[in-house]
Amino acid sequence: MLSHSSIVPFLSVQTRSRQLSRFSISMPRARSGETGKYDIQSVLTHEAGHFLGLDHAGLLSSVMTAYGAPSQLDQRTLAYDDMAGVTEIYPNPSAIASLGGLAGTISAGGTPVFGAHVVALDANGTPLVSTLSLPDGSFQILFLPGGTYRVYAEPLDGPVTEQNVGGNSSAFYYKLGTGFGTTYYGDVSDLSRSQAGTVPAGTLVRGADIHVLPATGLNLTEPGAFAARVPVGSTGMLTVGGNAITSGVTFSASTSSMGLGSTTFGGSIATDAPTSAQVAITVASNAPLGPKNISVSRSGSTSLLSGGVVLVNPPPAGIQISPSSGANAGGAAVNIRSQCIFRRNRCGKCSSCQWHDDPGRNAPECCR
Ligand SMILES: [Zn+2]
Repeated sequence: MLSHSSIVPFLSVQTRSRQLSRFSISMPRARSGETGKYDIQSVLTHEAGHFLGLDHAGLLSSVMTAYGAPSQLDQRTLAYDDMAGVTEIYPNPSAIASLGGLAGTISAGGTPVFGAHVVALDANGTPLVSTLSLPDGSFQILFLPGGTYRVYAEPLDGPVTEQNVGGNSSAFYYKLGTGFGTTYYGDVSDLSRSQAGTVPAGTLVRGADIHVLPATGLNLTEPGAFAARVPVGSTGMLTVGGNAITSGVTFSASTSSMGLGSTTFGGSIATDAPTSAQVAITVASNAPLGPKNISVSRSGSTSLLSGGVVLVNPPPAGIQISPSSGANAGGAAVNIRSQCIFRRNRCGKCSSCQWHDDPGRNAPECCR
């Protein structure tokens, strides 16, 4: 969440293939998620965030990330980071009393780092809320539910850059510090060695200071559009790109329920990605839902796509519609049945089943 700027309506929904400086009438657009078109409700949800005072987010999974993606409806739905940003501008004291936060300073060799993207990662590997460090290096990540968090600082060196949050002499975010390597709390480059901290409910925890590691040139920048949605229980291939993505690097995700396996390296896939790789991805069926990070590492250095993937439930299967057709005039009742509409933890009736199509009944045909 970034709420530091003043109101900036109707600015810059951008795509990796096409920079759009405004919600333009020339955008191919649709209301129904047609392939190759931008979803009007998604774009307007993003622009409404600007109208309410939000700047672009550093998390690719947030509605307020700087990029849109055609054929996708998910930018209609706020991420936690978006809600935290709006809450900072329009707080409801009674609603936020039980939420905590993290505060600290980002520095490099004793010098404050301005504009480091600082992210709170929860126990499920979800980048929940992020912010940018201020000119004195300080940051506050607010509105966190009580729990265990890891914090890291990364440079805004793509896919989200200074240009997405300012980038000129009249902007607050100008001449940001990007000459450092991604660094977790504990001053290490990898998640497994990072130090976790507890945020008690209703408490702002201070001292989450990070002394960043030097830059190495390793930089993951693609996929840099609005985060892809990946169903739990699925397998596939993920194409990633950036600088120095070559043999010897290893890929991982912020949750162990998402495995990144065999890798084939390749060449340029974008202007900000002269090197690339195709990585096999396997997501366990019980993986925690929500945004996750993709990271690449090589000998003590790491680069991230923060919120680069969002794990979601599989779409409903076995959809049956009756009657299958009817008069244009309407008026006929239509029954729609399917499996997999509700996940086990929303059902509460059928503990041995993974899926259930009706939270009020225990329909055995829906178990699998
Ligand atoms: Zn925007």
